[in-house]
Amino acid sequence: MFFDMGTSKKSSIKEYYDMVIIGGGPAGVAAGIYAVQGGIKPLIIEKDLDGGQVNLTEYVENYPGFSSITGEELAEKLGEHAKKFGVEFYYGEVINVDFSKEEKIISLDDGNIVKAKTIVIATGATPRKLGVPGEKEFAGKGVSYCATCDGHFFRNQKVAVVGGGNTAVEEALYLSKIAKEVYIIHRRDKLRADKIYQDKAFNTENIKFIWNSVVKEIKGDKKVNKLVLENRETGEVIDFDVDGVFIFVGLLPVTQLFKDKIELDEYGYIITDKHMETSVKGVFAAGDVVQKELRQIITAAADGAIAASFAVREYFN
Ligand code: NAP
Repeated sequence: MFFDMGTSKKSSIKEYYDMVIIGGGPAGVAAGIYAVQGGIKPLIIEKDLDGGQVNLTEYVENYPGFSSITGEELAEKLGEHAKKFGVEFYYGEVINVDFSKEEKIISLDDGNIVKAKTIVIATGATPRKLGVPGEKEFAGKGVSYCATCDGHFFRNQKVAVVGGGNTAVEEALYLSKIAKEVYIIHRRDKLRADKIYQDKAFNTENIKFIWNSVVKEIKGDKKVNKLVLENRETGEVIDFDVDGVFIFVGLLPVTQLFKDKIELDEYGYIITDKHMETSVKGVFAAGDVVQKELRQIITAAADGAIAASFAVREYFN
């Protein structure tokens, strides 16, 4: 998809950049800002929206300096900041990379080819699917991966949220303001989410919990109307009526393009050293796509800053 992000959309692209950053989320934007600060010329290639996944978050309340800001607003600010600093943006999709020579080559879906001395991969992660029957069939027909995008379709209705992490609980809290009832279906009897979100959810009247249960199938007619749930303790299987189901069972790194080109861990996350450099010299990675303990906006931005600073130090001084 191609989004016009306002005045700063770039339709032209040069043949060579000091640094090409793939992805315009917090990691990519921070890398861009630090690259300009280090005196080199970076290009950010973004296939969707400035700010990446930040756009999917309702409110961000843990990024220093912003006690509460909507995800959309912060995403916009990220793009604006980088552009103000002189970071060039190009909106398009990378379809191939060649990291085999000193000069790295990036191919885009519109036929453009860009060369760069250094690369920062900041492609992030996408929602993991449940992989059950009905999930694909009813995607967009009652199956959703984004409460902020689709929640309004379920005003005063009954929805289920699958998952027990921060995303599931945060999105359930968001949905509780729109839907009549929100059922959090979790495969264990304890949430993984941080205590602050747990407390809020436990204190929200229309959020209910179905513990130790997994979704075996999503059923419906034209739209979702039932979930087949299995209790993992008792083995009992029930049909559970719902109008919609929101799936938040973690993330998958966006690394298909880099398979066999840089070292990935068993889950597909990119392995880096402490300078965020990958197994290929001159190729750095930052943000959710990297193997790490804490995936947050602040850690993504920090990764980007580290990657660009060390790239400047190692390859341009
Ligand atoms: P997550 O923390 O990995 O949680 C995934 C949840 O889905 C877990 O509760 C997991 O169950 C469950 N799950 C995984 N596979 C499943 C399956 N096949 N069937 C049923 N349930 C399944 O993922 P996330 O919530 O998307 O968060 C991703 C990262 O972003 C985390 O590091 C999180 O802290 C961060 N994040 C932070 C904030 C914030 O601080 N404001 C907001 C959103 C996300 P188990 O618990 O049993 O493993």
